[in-house]
Amino acid sequence: MSSMMKILEKVSGLAVAPVSSDTDKQNDILCQELPFKVLEYPTGSKHNGWIIPHNWEVLKAEIKKDGKLIYDGKKHPLGVIGLSEPFSGTVSLSELKKHLYFFEKSPEDIVYHCDQYYKPYKKLWGFSVPYNLYKTLTAGDYDVELITLHTEGRMKVLEYTLQGKSPKTIIFNAHNCHAAQINDGPAGYAVLVEVMKKLSQQSTKYSYRLIIAPEHIGTVFYLASLKPKEIDNFKLGIFMEMVGNDNEFALQQSFTGESYIDKIAHHILKFDAASYWSDTFRKIVGNDESVWEAPGYEVPMISLSRCEPKTLYPQYHLSSDTVDIIKPEKLEETVDVTMAMIDVIEKNCYLKRKFTGLIALSNPQYDLYISPGSDPSIKNEALADQAKWSELMNYLPRYFDESISILDIAIKHDLPFRQVYAYLLKFKEKGLVEFIEKDLF
Ligand SMILES: [Zn+2]
Repeated sequence: MSSMMKILEKVSGLAVAPVSSDTDKQNDILCQELPFKVLEYPTGSKHNGWIIPHNWEVLKAEIKKDGKLIYDGKKHPLGVIGLSEPFSGTVSLSELKKHLYFFEKSPEDIVYHCDQYYKPYKKLWGFSVPYNLYKTLTAGDYDVELITLHTEGRMKVLEYTLQGKSPKTIIFNAHNCHAAQINDGPAGYAVLVEVMKKLSQQSTKYSYRLIIAPEHIGTVFYLASLKPKEIDNFKLGIFMEMVGNDNEFALQQSFTGESYIDKIAHHILKFDAASYWSDTFRKIVGNDESVWEAPGYEVPMISLSRCEPKTLYPQYHLSSDTVDIIKPEKLEETVDVTMAMIDVIEKNCYLKRKFTGLIALSNPQYDLYISPGSDPSIKNEALADQAKWSELMNYLPRYFDESISILDIAIKHDLPFRQVYAYLLKFKEKGLVEFIEKDLF
């Protein structure tokens, strides 16, 4: 089993919340994977109208009728609505129904009710129940014993930084607050943990930071706690969730849709992913990209998922979002495309020629000629599109004036960055060009 699947197995079934003992357990599991810095923020803290909810635990959650147990909300971490108030008493069926939540289209499932985490002042009590149970309830009195504990605590934000030569930082972010759900949350952080493990094996030009935190609330308080100078270093970002299921990639663009990370993501997904679709900011999913992109921070952040338009995926915010719907090869593919995006960030540069006039690229001294119809000169890579490569070869010398980056050349000629870079590396080795580093973002 891959290390990503092992993480997902370990966190399965945990009653995580913005602040809970199981969230601490989950953080301990993650801290065994990477040496995260654990940042803490007291519950009850307020910022811009956001409030960190209390540490919340469910001790008992029973609904009985005529002494018979009808429902035990403790049996599944979604059985009680998030941050539910306690309640004990006898209620009529119509009163009880006001406190039951369900999803008719998926009648076996228990639905994730998270509204109160963001509105702790609502102070509702309630249960999430399968619709199949809800529709069998008959008239009469119901005895409810719902004991929940709201205590002071500390919200934790996990931060792991790989310092590169440049302080310019690429942010990776995933959330960790969805009780007992695996694709929505853990699939994203499992991939990003794997990416950071791989990156830690190499020395990098840029810095990379992974933040795993409760959705919205975590990043709101994290960013509010940083000095503006540190935030100034955050140049690009990728939010990741729902990447383990069997859908094609969905790329949600940054706020402008025109940032460097948008350009890179489109290019890599086009060539490296089996398929993908894309839409503008907040049109696919809504997560912490809103916090990073907020005024004063304005970190361009794309969101990568495997959502379908509108419905996202069949198990979205339901108890059936378990490890059973995760495809290990989809997690692997997500690691691969993320590493490919990082490869572009690390390697992209401009070109400066060290010659004048036309070079005979077919001369064995260079061996860089690509004929329009015969074998390409790049030995180890199959060139699927001979005509495009031949055209690229003819255009390239004029690009050696530091006016266009390798990524833009690859996009212009509709060829993969990786292969164009490999071809240009040969020009460098033959002493024809210099690779010039300039500010690209
Ligand atoms: Zn969600």
